[in-house]
Amino acid sequence: MHPRDLFDRLFAAYGPQHWWPAKTRFEVCVGAILTQNTAWSNVEKAIANLRREKLLTLKALAAADKRELARCIQPAGYFNQKAGYLKNFCRHVVGEHGTLAAFFRPPLPVLRRELLAVKGIGPETADSILLYAAGKPSFVIDAYTQRIVHRLGLSEEESYAGLKQFFESRLPVDERRFNEFHALFVEHAKRVCLKAAPWCGECCLAKECRKIGV
Ligand code: SF4
Repeated sequence: MHPRDLFDRLFAAYGPQHWWPAKTRFEVCVGAILTQNTAWSNVEKAIANLRREKLLTLKALAAADKRELARCIQPAGYFNQKAGYLKNFCRHVVGEHGTLAAFFRPPLPVLRRELLAVKGIGPETADSILLYAAGKPSFVIDAYTQRIVHRLGLSEEESYAGLKQFFESRLPVDERRFNEFHALFVEHAKRVCLKAAPWCGECCLAKECRKIGV
């Protein structure tokens, strides 16, 4: 199955997903860091705390007391570590560029390298920020994508970089398409292609799926 057909099938099944669920581009960045190893519902609680404490701006987070910040984001788990990651990111942007808009100005490969050099920003977080906050066409791979691709038998690639290349080399460079595709993978994995017991009988991909490991 070509990734283009996979997209069409998922889009027909679930429709537009309107990602990323955030009010501002900065919130997308914060959410992308906080969502590492935790469910989105926990991130929402942490973001609500940050908003209530008036910490949901680049400068406020850069200047925030780390212990206070860790307390606010406790619901997202790994809170001491993530408080450090948030501060690293915000201090870098404020110190090197001043504003998020200036930070996002360089071309995608330059900005991606810069993001990956910030401690706490790995490939999935970097690509989420690039795609959903900066609006640049960087395909995001996550555990849901890996699960579905593996079960379908779509690609034998297992590495993050290999899977990213698999999709980017087969699809037109289109930020809106990449945005929707990742959101559709998440929707499909949460609603049908569940980790423990996938609902193959209800699945829009059942005919083509090789159901590897299911
Ligand atoms: S047929 Fe089953 S294993 Fe394959 S994508 Fe659908 S739910 Fe997942």
